[in-house]
Amino acid sequence: MTSRYGATRDDLARIVEHLGEPPYRARQLHEGLYELRRPLEALTNLSKDLRARLADALPLAFTADAEQHGDHGMTTKWLWRAADGSQVETVLMRYPDRATVCVSSQAGCAMACTFCATGQAGFERHLDSGEILEQILRAQHGSPERVSNVVFMGMGEPLANTDAVLDACTRLHDDVGLSARHITVSTVGVVPGMESLADFALPVTLAVSLHAPDDALRERLVPLDRRYPIDAVLGAAREYASRKGRRVTFEYACIDGVNDHPAQADALARRLLGFRGGTHVNLIPLNPTGGFPGRASPRARIEAFASALRAHGVQASIRQNRGTDIDAACGQLRSRIAPGTWTPGRSATMAP
Ligand code: SAH
Repeated sequence: MTSRYGATRDDLARIVEHLGEPPYRARQLHEGLYELRRPLEALTNLSKDLRARLADALPLAFTADAEQHGDHGMTTKWLWRAADGSQVETVLMRYPDRATVCVSSQAGCAMACTFCATGQAGFERHLDSGEILEQILRAQHGSPERVSNVVFMGMGEPLANTDAVLDACTRLHDDVGLSARHITVSTVGVVPGMESLADFALPVTLAVSLHAPDDALRERLVPLDRRYPIDAVLGAAREYASRKGRRVTFEYACIDGVNDHPAQADALARRLLGFRGGTHVNLIPLNPTGGFPGRASPRARIEAFASALRAHGVQASIRQNRGTDIDAACGQLRSRIAPGTWTPGRSATMAP
């Protein structure tokens, strides 16, 4: 059985026909779920009885194990559970006139980045594109603002699950109506996946998690660096930039005394020259995780690092951390609290 958001337009047409309904019902259903972005139960132009039969024919892939609110109600995190028991998280970040959803592409992750909570926990399984879409649409149901941006920065390595992720991108563009540039695929540097992304029809935004200016340091933080060293990753990123004409973003988690020296900013800037469209470095203060001893760089040090990059003509910004009060910040997803003990309402005082 296909899940509610795994069903394509053709699948919906078949299911509606099977239920003995006229074809225009499938169009109403598709419009309600994707263009209007409403939950099935709220599609009141379909009879209550039909909605109930559709709900049976098109089950959701996830049940919510928990929902937490932080940042005075502007950040929401969901912990979802699939029928097989896999758990993934989704974060909604609201802004005054729009919203961004941070989605998971896998349950767990095999990349084992040493500072990342998901990497510390290991790999469970890939998500399918319906499970990816469902995270975004159910986050939309919880957001008064229209979701305009999707970032693949939740759990998992999107370019280790390329088919499902690219299919989800296509459906986000075609069905949900997001602009390709507002979809960001963040990778630790899986070079073959980056090449597939360059061949992909949509010019989505590419973000590359670099975290170090040299391989000696990077391979301690990102084990995949041994397979795809910085030169190979930057080569694939340059190719992406020139094929798509899109500026590439680099993510850099600032770790006190490890990768935040001004000389490391100089070395990083030198490696980032010669990109078509320029580059942009996103500096993220490290979020502490249980399995990694490092701390976040102090604010002044991150600012000095950003200035050093800018002095070389590399754009840099310091990412505002959202969701730290509900463990929804980068790399913290599904951390600290053992399954089953993570209950809603932990931060109830933060709810709107
Ligand atoms: N696998 C993808 C998506 C991972 S999450 C990737 O590696 O890009 C998105 C970003 O959060 C990545 O840049 C990741 O390195 C970063 N991140 C992970 N753990 C973090 C932590 N503890 N503190 C700060 N950033 C972290």
